[in-house]
Order: sequence, then C-alpha cells, then structure tokens
Amino acid sequence: MIISLSKNNNKDFYFADALQPIKFVAADSLEEEQIEVRIGVGMMMGNYRGGENKISKKRKELEKSGEKEEVSNTEIIIGEYCFIGDFISERRGENNLLVKKDGCDEYTCNEVIMKPSFTYESFPNGTFNADPCSTEQANNTAVVAGIFSVLWGRTAVTAIEYFKTENLSACFDPNFSKWKFGTTLPLYPYFQTIMDVCLTNITNKGYRYLYEISEIQSVWNDPDICEAKKDLEGHKSYPSNVRAGGYIFLEVEMAHEMAHGQDFQWVIDSLQTAFLYPTLDLLEVNCGNYDEENKKANNPDDSKLIYFNYLQKIVAGETVNGVRTFNGFEQRLKIGFENHINQSFIVDEKQVDHENYINSRPLVTNTINVLLSEFEKIWNCN
Ligand SMILES: [Zn+2]
Repeated sequence: MIISLSKNNNKDFYFADALQPIKFVAADSLEEEQIEVRIGVGMMMGNYRGGENKISKKRKELEKSGEKEEVSNTEIIIGEYCFIGDFISERRGENNLLVKKDGCDEYTCNEVIMKPSFTYESFPNGTFNADPCSTEQANNTAVVAGIFSVLWGRTAVTAIEYFKTENLSACFDPNFSKWKFGTTLPLYPYFQTIMDVCLTNITNKGYRYLYEISEIQSVWNDPDICEAKKDLEGHKSYPSNVRAGGYIFLEVEMAHEMAHGQDFQWVIDSLQTAFLYPTLDLLEVNCGNYDEENKKANNPDDSKLIYFNYLQKIVAGETVNGVRTFNGFEQRLKIGFENHINQSFIVDEKQVDHENYINSRPLVTNTINVLLSEFEKIWNCN
C-alpha cells in the first residue's frame, strides 16, 4: 500500500517506509454521493526512530515559514482509531482514493410497505381450453351442474407477470438496520380458476335449468309449481335432491361455486399467514456493498435483486436439474387445498363432507332462502 498525502500533487509526501500496521481513518458520512478524500496516517512529529522522515521535515518547514496547511473538509485526519464500518473504496490513479457513500439512510422507509397477497381470478368453462364441466361429469353419476376448478398449471403463466423487479418496493428500516420489502401489487390474482354452471350436463341428464324462478311458467309453461319448490329445497343438500326431469336453480348453483371460491381464498389467506409471511420475514438484507451471498445492499435496486430471488423461491418453489428441492407457496397451497377438500366438517353438530360444508355457507343458504320467499310471494305452496 502506498499512501500519499498529496498536496498540490507533490509526490514528495509518500510514506515509502511507513511501519506496519498502518492505521488510517476515512470519512464515514458524506454529503455527496461520492467524494474524493485524503487519507492520512497518524504519525509522530520530529525524530522518529532516530531519523527524520520527509513528512515531518516538510511540516517543520511549513511551520517555520508561517504557511498553514490547507484547511478543507478533506483535511488530513490523524486518529488513533480505525473506522470499522463498510465503505467502497476504489483506486483512482496513483494518489486518490474514491470513497462512496455506503449509507442506506437516504432510503429510509416513510411509507407503508405492502405485503404480497394472493387471490384468484375466475373464468367461464372452456377458457384456456379447460373443460372441467365435461371432465368432472365423466367421473360422476350425479349431474355436475356447476364447477369450481383451480388451474394449477396456469401459475407458470401468472408467475412470469408477477415476478418483475418493477413490481417490488424496498426501503431501509434504520430501527432494525435492514431493508424492508413489499410489492406494488398487494392483491394479485396469481391463481386462475374455472367457475361456471354446466348447462350441457344439466340438459344431458334430463334436467331443466332456471336463471329465474319466473321461467317455470314463462319458459317451461309448467303448472306444477309446488314440485319446483321442492326441487329448490332439495338444493340444500349436495348432490341436490331434485326429482328426475326437475329444475336446477342456476343462481343456487353459482352461489355454491362462489362459496368454493371463498373457501379457496380462506385456504390461501391461512397459508399466507402460516407460511408465506413468516418465511419472507426470515430474509435479512443489511446495509452494505451489494453482496448477494452475504445479503447486503446499499440501494433499493440492489436490495430488490436479493429479495426478488428469495421471493421467487418462496412463492414458486425451487427445482434443481428437474428435481423439486423446495416447495414454495404454490406447491404447499395445492397440497393444502386438496387436504382441506378431503376433510370432514362439523355443521349443526353433524359431520359433513366438504361439498355439504360448502352448501351450508351463508352465500348458498341465503340464496335459497331468498328464492323460497319469492315462491311464497308468487305461489302458495306448502
Ligand atoms: Zn361443489
């Protein structure tokens, strides 16, 4: 190491024979983004180990002539301590060292950071060439009048849209001395589903479907209104208890599928709380020169790069050479949702399967009750 006390580019000031170790201090807080500073070595004036070196000689000359050394904000600092903080130094030419600001304080958080939060988006049967109305019907003897089907294979498509650094936000939290991360897409439809009624299945099984109860007369010209009311009451259980050739109430079917959607969202939210947020919180990126391995960054863009890779792994999982090595949120959700569907539930102190649990949701029961009260208004059946 050669340390120069360059003054007017006077090369006489080299410490050619400075004794090791050399302690030096440098500015650890800078007003500008980067600045050139002089670095000085603490030393004894006058005789030093029996000999007078060039620096002390020069100083004595300056003192005699009454000339003062330049006073500036880059003044030589003589100290008995080492600065142990992080800073970037970069050699420039022979004499000057460039010291860059390492502080993250200028990126201090002053707004609420929004956590990622996932939801789903629903599409009609047939979208993305997905036809769960047909595939589910093939596995069922009872009519499949409606469908709620999660298209797990579509996450590869939504992930490409979601994982972009411009969708991320980062700021520095000086209280914990680490970066905080969030997203500019706080509620994102990461999962895609088919949610629909299946008219073809209803017709193929010999049933009649109704968008509105008035269609019992206006469309079907049916005098047997009170049998239709029994069909509606049959929708309280699943599969619906509807007489052969009877009515399927599409409004109730759709409420049932929407209740599946609510249930799916409940599983998403639960897993976010149990897995996603605690795992994302484990990432600790401190202030320092960009270092992916040691998780350091000193500006939002660099810190976001570290978060980006971590977020991607935690959400989409990790596959190495075609072998899955880490199950992320996606994979855990798929497993968790399937387990949830296979569970039994207690409704009115009775153990019921998932479908009847869905049918007991207020969305479904309220829909049925509203339609039943319409029956009462129009027709008098008991
Ligand atoms: Zn269902």
